Amino acid sequence: MIYLDHQATTPCDARVVEAMAPYWSTQFGNAASRHHAMGREALNAVEEARDQIGSLIGASGDEICFTSGATEADNLALKGAAFALRKQGRHIVSQRTEHKAVLDTLAYLEGCGFEVTYLDVDAEGLISPKDFEAAIHKETILASVMAANNEIGTINPIGELATFAHGHGALFHTDAVQAIGHIPVDVRASGVDFLSASAHKFNGPKGIGFLFIRKGLKLDSLLDGGQQERGFRAGTENVASIVGMATALKSNCECMDKNIAHLNKLTSLLRDGIGKFFKGVVYPGVGEAPQLPGFTCVSFPTCSAEGLLHMLDLKGIAVSAGAACDSKNTQISHVLKAINAGKDVARSTIRISLGIENTSDDVATILAALRAIVCATEKLRG
Ligand SMILES: *Cc1c(COP(=O)(O)O)cnc(C)c1O
Repeated sequence: MIYLDHQATTPCDARVVEAMAPYWSTQFGNAASRHHAMGREALNAVEEARDQIGSLIGASGDEICFTSGATEADNLALKGAAFALRKQGRHIVSQRTEHKAVLDTLAYLEGCGFEVTYLDVDAEGLISPKDFEAAIHKETILASVMAANNEIGTINPIGELATFAHGHGALFHTDAVQAIGHIPVDVRASGVDFLSASAHKFNGPKGIGFLFIRKGLKLDSLLDGGQQERGFRAGTENVASIVGMATALKSNCECMDKNIAHLNKLTSLLRDGIGKFFKGVVYPGVGEAPQLPGFTCVSFPTCSAEGLLHMLDLKGIAVSAGAACDSKNTQISHVLKAINAGKDVARSTIRISLGIENTSDDVATILAALRAIVCATEKLRG
């Protein structure tokens, strides 16, 4: 199996699995049981991970709130801030290309009486900073724009947008799932108020993530129960996964320059190979804007994405079309629609996302497979 779908999820590093192991067996204490040594041991592990994660993104440990993943972090940031600030205003600004975890949460808030402006994006998936600023008014309490898009890989100028939001008295949230652990992220430098992350997108375990909540800001909690996570998120902490998440983020951040260079090299090999063998391919979203390393969203106009995915799967190669969460529905991806990719391009677009464990042999294998599949398809059509 050759795995080229890292925007959907990434494998856990062996060191991450090793770091987690004791917390599932011998060190199984509950971090809330401070009155005995087993509990304190778990608490120490959780707090050490919290400080480590904070320092890797320019935050302090007590600004990190552990969640079950980025879906929950997005829900907590948006619903939590909207309900906490409802007396100050009921307007939220976002964009059409957000992940479903943001879009569906905003739709829920619209049902609760909040008003949401969804900004249009250009062919690269970028909103215009002018439109963004113009959309914010007296009633605007919050803006939410992702750090990097999970379907087309475009990186957004988060710091600039956060400054605009603050200039008009609104808070700023970013879903940074695709950026964290892959490109530099610093909450102090960018000035964001809330930031969502998910461990399984940066070589950590699934089912764990965090929300950065700038010190002093209030959020209504989604879960009621214990006083864990400073009251923002009740429920016994997932000690092993929290330790695994911190280990994974540390390892990815320490090797970031090396990883980016490796992914850029493989991406060039892939795109050179595609350029050599295939005519008329289109790269939706690609232009001047910076893109996530290792990311290739590409359309082979003579093939359907669904067919390509299936044929590649038969050859033991995993890639995606559109969002992974959408793989059962053949509708055109909302992101490709938003960038005006056109129906034919959208229907034939696959997403090849390389990871740090991929090699140039993997790239050669997918190039050969694509060549065989595309040639066969063209022959069938005459
Ligand atoms: C994967 C992803 C999510 C959801 O994260 P989970 O931890 O799997 O819930 C949210 N936003 C983006 C941009 C993603 O890529």
